[in-house]
Amino acid sequence: MYWSQVRVLAGPPKKMNRRRFIKSISYIYFFSCLNEFNLLFANDLRKVINPSLSQEQKKIMFEDSTERPFSSPLNHEKRNGFYHCANCGNKLFASTSKFDSGTGWPSFTESLPGAFKTKVDYSIGMKRTEYHCAKCGVHHGHVFDDGPAENEKRFCNNGLCLIFIPSNDS
Ligand SMILES: [Zn+2]
Repeated sequence: MYWSQVRVLAGPPKKMNRRRFIKSISYIYFFSCLNEFNLLFANDLRKVINPSLSQEQKKIMFEDSTERPFSSPLNHEKRNGFYHCANCGNKLFASTSKFDSGTGWPSFTESLPGAFKTKVDYSIGMKRTEYHCAKCGVHHGHVFDDGPAENEKRFCNNGLCLIFIPSNDS
């Protein structure tokens, strides 16, 4: 909440006096508290659902950390099936969208509809699109616009956030 917006709420400019000044400050305080509350609420959406998550999994999912590249056995997973959220079990990717990106992390061209929500992330000083489980809110990875398929998407997912369930036919 900036002064210009307060001025819009307050109507046309009036001569500032002590009462109006206090009123304006109260507006600023009220809206900044509201913003803090929203941030707090957004973080609180992440909850441990799977009690057997390891410390490393929790660090990635709840603190937006990243696993070491080439460390996930899922990099070599080629069977048919689906990849689920390791925290809540939400179905996220079909094996048909998996490809070898050479980056060292399990990579996918597309997620299943409604599987994720995204947010813009500047944590390493560049603009990236972070994505997290739409059901439980935990961090999974980042999506880039350099994928090999027609939609040009590359979902770069931490293997530790995924559970692979093979289909019966594979
Ligand atoms: Zn989840």
